[in-house]
Amino acid sequence: MDSSKTLGRRDALLSFGVAGASLVAPHLCHAQSYASMAIRPQDARVSVQPLGPFDATLFDRIASSLTSELSVTVQRESSIDLPRAAYYARNRRYRAERLLDFLRGRVAAPVNRILGVTEVDISTTAHGVADWGILGLGDLPGPACVISMFRCRRNARDAAQVHFRMVTTCVHEVGHTLGLDHCADTRCLMTDARGTVRTIDQSSGRLCNRCRARLGLAPRNG
Ligand SMILES: [Zn+2]
Ligand SMILES: [Zn+2]
Repeated sequence: MDSSKTLGRRDALLSFGVAGASLVAPHLCHAQSYASMAIRPQDARVSVQPLGPFDATLFDRIASSLTSELSVTVQRESSIDLPRAAYYARNRRYRAERLLDFLRGRVAAPVNRILGVTEVDISTTAHGVADWGILGLGDLPGPACVISMFRCRRNARDAAQVHFRMVTTCVHEVGHTLGLDHCADTRCLMTDARGTVRTIDQSSGRLCNRCRARLGLAPRNG
C-alpha cells in the first residue's frame, strides 16, 4: 500500500525555511530563539552529517558546492543512526522538524551549522497537510537543516539531475541557516520550490548577486 496516497498529491516536493516567510506561517517554531543567529558565511563552519546509510562519494560534491557558493567551511562527519523519535510510522517516513531538533543538539564548537543528509523520505506539516513530503527543511536563520536524497531521486532523468538537485538543495538549506530568505529570482537557488522539484531543476544552481550581497559576498559576473 502506498501511504502517500492518503495525502493527495504524491509528487509534491518542496523546500523551505522553518521560521521563514515561505509556506509556513512566520515564527512557526524557532524564530524567537534563533532571531539573532544569522552569521557571516565566512564565520560558518558547517558539519555535514549523514543520517543512516549515505553514499560517501557524494560528500565531495556537497562540500565543493557549499564552499564555492557560500564560502563556508565544511566538516565531514561519519554516519549516525536516524533518531527513532523522528519516525512517523503511519507514513513510514521521518519528520523533518524532529530531525532538526536532533541535529541542533549535535552542534558544538567550532561547528555552528549542521546539514543532515539522508536517503530516507522526510516530511513536515505544510499546505494544510499534516504530513507533506519535502526535499529539505532549514532553520531561518539557525543552526540546523536537513535534505533528503529520496526526493532528489524521484522522477529524475539521470544521475546528473539527482546530483544537481542534491547540491542545490544543500546550498539552499544552508543559505536559510545563514539568514537568507526565499528569492524572487527563479534562476537563483534560493527560489521558493513552491511545491515542486521542477523549480529546482529550472534554477541556475547558483546564488544571484542580490542574495550574494545579502550575505556580504562579492558579486559574480554573468
Ligand atoms: Zn527554502
Ligand atoms: Zn537570489
